[in-house]
Amino acid sequence: MDYDLIKNRLAPCGLHCGKCFAYTDGAIRKSSIHLKKALGNFDVYAQRFVDLIDEPVFKKYPDFKELLTYFTIVECKGCRKEKCKIFKDCKVRDCHEMREIDFCFQCSDFPCDNTGFDQHLHKRSVDINLRMKEIGVEKYYDEIKDKPRY
Ligand code: SF4
Ligand code: SF4
Repeated sequence: MDYDLIKNRLAPCGLHCGKCFAYTDGAIRKSSIHLKKALGNFDVYAQRFVDLIDEPVFKKYPDFKELLTYFTIVECKGCRKEKCKIFKDCKVRDCHEMREIDFCFQCSDFPCDNTGFDQHLHKRSVDINLRMKEIGVEKYYDEIKDKPRY
């Protein structure tokens, strides 16, 4: 995949939008839509299966369905196209535009304390950017493209 296409999948902070649960064409969202459709009117049967096959796990179906429905509704075209729906305090998106760079590792102030991320996310972003700096964006993408984001 060429640099510009990869850029559409990787946010400036390095996180893989393409594997985010909210990404429009992502596997989680698309699989959730398929699964929800395939389950049809399973609500009724989940209730019946609690007694019919003596399986209490089916009592949890309403919660499962609520989460599954959420995965089908939330939708994002990725950080290069719209503001992140998950990390609302992210400062990287505006900052990288202002500095006219594609990724944080290309910035003279990298790594900085200006991301707006919590400790966990900050570390992930720094680790990803260090790896991209070491082997290049294209090779980094090859390394992670088939792996889950989470
Ligand atoms: S911008 Fe945020 S919500 Fe959108 S795909 Fe990327 S990580 Fe997910
Ligand atoms: S200042 Fe920080 S957040 Fe902004 S582009 Fe540079 S490294 Fe990224």
